[in-house]
Amino acid sequence: MTTMTAAGSIESVRSAIARGETTATALAESYLARIAEEDPRIHAWLSVGREYALAQAAEIDKLAANGETLPPLAGVPVGIKDVLTLEGFPATAGSKILEGYRPPYTATAVRKLADAGAIFPGKLNCDEFAMGSSNENSAYGPVHNPHHLDRVPGGSSGGSAAAVAAGMAVATLGTDTGGSIRQPASFCGVVGVLPTYGRVSRYGLIAFASSLDRIGPFAANVRDAATVLGVIAGHDPMDATSSPLAVPDYAADLDRSADQGVSGMRLGVPAEYFAEGLDAEVRAAIEGGIERLRSAGAEICPISLPHTRYAIPAYYVIATAEASSNLARFDGVRYGLRAPQSDTLAAMYRRTRDLGFGAEVKRRIMLGTYVLSHGYYDAYYRKAQQVRRLLADDFLSAFKEVDAIVTPTAPTPAFRIGEKSDDPVAMYLADIYTVTASLAGICGISVPCGRSAEGLPIGMQILGKHFDEAAIFRVGQALENLLAS
Ligand code: GLN
Repeated sequence: MTTMTAAGSIESVRSAIARGETTATALAESYLARIAEEDPRIHAWLSVGREYALAQAAEIDKLAANGETLPPLAGVPVGIKDVLTLEGFPATAGSKILEGYRPPYTATAVRKLADAGAIFPGKLNCDEFAMGSSNENSAYGPVHNPHHLDRVPGGSSGGSAAAVAAGMAVATLGTDTGGSIRQPASFCGVVGVLPTYGRVSRYGLIAFASSLDRIGPFAANVRDAATVLGVIAGHDPMDATSSPLAVPDYAADLDRSADQGVSGMRLGVPAEYFAEGLDAEVRAAIEGGIERLRSAGAEICPISLPHTRYAIPAYYVIATAEASSNLARFDGVRYGLRAPQSDTLAAMYRRTRDLGFGAEVKRRIMLGTYVLSHGYYDAYYRKAQQVRRLLADDFLSAFKEVDAIVTPTAPTPAFRIGEKSDDPVAMYLADIYTVTASLAGICGISVPCGRSAEGLPIGMQILGKHFDEAAIFRVGQALENLLAS
């Protein structure tokens, strides 16, 4: 077990710098030192950019010295999952095929963080092209769960979750296609947000499955996660799927609802998420959390999401189909790795892809190509899209009755490194409670809700209507307060 110190909150960092109690430079130095000390055991970071972070910090210190109003994330160390681009920095997506690639542009979400004064210590480890639930598919080696080093941190944003849990960053960005923010947040005992599809621009995100991929924050508490989402959200002309809807002030919303908490809210509890396969300790923790929400004035409503059992198969058809198309661009010509000494162009493509892609990525490209192929398209891909519609309709009808839905985030606490790596189907089931919201496009959050007897964190997933992040933050904040009291 690693010793963990609570990371400072965003407001405490910003106000300490504003009041001159510390400098952004001193703070960046202390986080870099912590990374140097902790990360050899955890391996959350794929690259650390000391000079860059210190240069960013110097800019903030200049503002502070001139007595200027500091931007909302002034001096706050934020780590970036390595599927997001930062101009001039490595962006490996956890894959050998992008070794040596230096993107010539910066992702919109990352640029917005920088504009808000955040400091970037570096890029975070993840499953290759965000495919996985344990971070064991990273070509650069697994991440270890800071709470228990022989456990996985969850995936695919395992580095992003572990960095916050071990106090190596105040917040991080991850991506969630089928659960990759919520599930690692649950395993590492931190908060992770899946924003509504379209809420955050995907420009500069190395695509896995474009109709499902979303960028969202990890933080040590709900308020910080809300603050970071407020910074990165909004319309972007570079992403046609980003929404023009105005971005609410999520933190101010939390202040407004602080006295009321969840009182008067209707929270749905779907029977399908408390069935076979749910670990007994997870069940007990989540039921305990729901009881507390009830005693705080929420109305708990049993609901049904009847198509839930088709979600995993539909997800693995749609996600792999889109991946097979998105990953066709990695051919040894345009990015990163190129296999040496091939006689023909076709041989170079083949050898590059054979050397550069890991087993899971190859499996998904083959699966995706198959479900899109002539003769199988109708049976698999079209059918999966129809199921997707039914799943979304389940949520739409549920949200006529309730304000938010509460479930476990994952069926178990963090499993052992190696425990599921030979069994792709067992691994896919780790996302059984998260892929539904991914397919439906709605928002969600995972908030810590107790621990197992072994001390492993357990997360509660709170799902909300499209663009109603305010509701899930409100429930999440109430749960956090109730568990702290
Ligand atoms: N574990 C799921 C998968 O392997 C989800 C990954 C993700 O959300 N990026 O596809």
